[in-house]
Amino acid sequence: IALCLVVTAFLSGIIALILSLVNSQNIGQASPQKYGMVFDAGSSHTTLYLYQWPANKENDTGIVSQIHVCNVQGPGISSYADNPPQAGETLKPCMDEALSVIPPMRQREATVLLGATAGMRILRIQNATKTQLIFDEITKTLIQYPVNFLGARILTGSEEGSLGWITVNYLLGTFIGYSFLGNWIHPTGGQMYGAMDLGGASTQMTFQPAGSITDKDTEMFFRLYGFNYTIYTHSYLCYGQDQFFKRLLANLLQGWTSGTVKHPCYAKNYTTTISLSSVFNSPCVGSGPSDLMVNVTVEGTGDPAECRRIVRNIFNFSACANRVDCTFDGVYQPTVQGEFYAFSAFYYTFGFLNLTNGQSLSEANGTVWSFCSSDWSQVTVNKPLRCNTKMCLYSTYTSIVYPVGWMVLHSTYENLYYNEIYLSLKVGNMDVGWTLGYMLNLTNMIPSESPTLLRATYF
Ligand code: AMP
Repeated sequence: IALCLVVTAFLSGIIALILSLVNSQNIGQASPQKYGMVFDAGSSHTTLYLYQWPANKENDTGIVSQIHVCNVQGPGISSYADNPPQAGETLKPCMDEALSVIPPMRQREATVLLGATAGMRILRIQNATKTQLIFDEITKTLIQYPVNFLGARILTGSEEGSLGWITVNYLLGTFIGYSFLGNWIHPTGGQMYGAMDLGGASTQMTFQPAGSITDKDTEMFFRLYGFNYTIYTHSYLCYGQDQFFKRLLANLLQGWTSGTVKHPCYAKNYTTTISLSSVFNSPCVGSGPSDLMVNVTVEGTGDPAECRRIVRNIFNFSACANRVDCTFDGVYQPTVQGEFYAFSAFYYTFGFLNLTNGQSLSEANGTVWSFCSSDWSQVTVNKPLRCNTKMCLYSTYTSIVYPVGWMVLHSTYENLYYNEIYLSLKVGNMDVGWTLGYMLNLTNMIPSESPTLLRATYF
């Protein structure tokens, strides 16, 4: 009997061990992954971002990773106004590339979104039918894929700004954290980062002001992880760097009939020929000469003071005279607070001049000044690979619009504020932009209420 008892105990021990091993293997098994793709259809180009996250942690913060990026060949989708099928066609190589990264059994549930920004907003002003035809073709292309396509549309400027703000704060972990005392808290005491985004056709300024927002058109309300956020956001259409470039050229061409046009923002000894139709083809620019099928030669004079003067002239600062809650063109903006992330073309432009390491605004202005004084031969010698004819104008424009966000153009606090803006393209290995915020929002990955389970019980 004793022997029987010992053998039985031994066998049940073995069975318990096997069961526990089987169970622990289940616990240790990786959660299935989910996938989401967002096409950022910008004014100058389209980029596809592919995101991945563990299915069992959807409501956690900071669990999404960016696993692939694909640059769509060719210009932005608004350039296909006269050939809409091509807009759909150009997306295919990136879709194929992204699908080769997603396991076949996960593809059907992979969310696919396409958001278009200011390039398409501008085309819609010019010709809403052409805009629709482009989306029809894109939809025709994307519904052919074995994925969960949720649609292609134009984001409003407020969406673009606020989704960028959500991305920045999601990536920096400012929405929610878990305290040692066992409750969900605001890791930064509720202090959120503002977001500054510069594209080719518009620029967005978004932050959580300390006081109330008097212009309700600029207010967005969110409830995220159990906390309320009322944020200010404004998108300046026609203030993206490419549209700004056209506006400046249009001003220089006022009254032009023949001969060469001098351009103070082009380097000395740089000459180029442009067609009038490429300048006066946008609602951001006033009407031009009656015959637009004419080419004009533009000659650089490399004059930074004159460049700065004509760039500043485009901003209507007098429309904000005697108002502290106004930037330019009469645009309302409450008093800024907190720190900011500036990304996209803010980063590209200052990055080109090596100005992303916390330089003061006066240092940045000095670098822009000396770059804009350069002879074209110097520009190409010093920047053989990355030389860009438009960089003087872009950086002059950026160095003006950048502190505008801070409303410091007329104050003496320029440098103090400037130091509170971080220039960044990425947080970790994730690109900063509106796309992640869009996907989190449309897949309900940011819950309104805080998680009820303790983080430890997720494992
Ligand atoms: P959008 O296409 O509207 O998002 O605008 C992006 C802006 O950033 C355009 O003015 C582009 O010329 C500029 N841009 C995009 N990528 C780069 C890059 N790698 N270097 C410099 N400028 C860039």
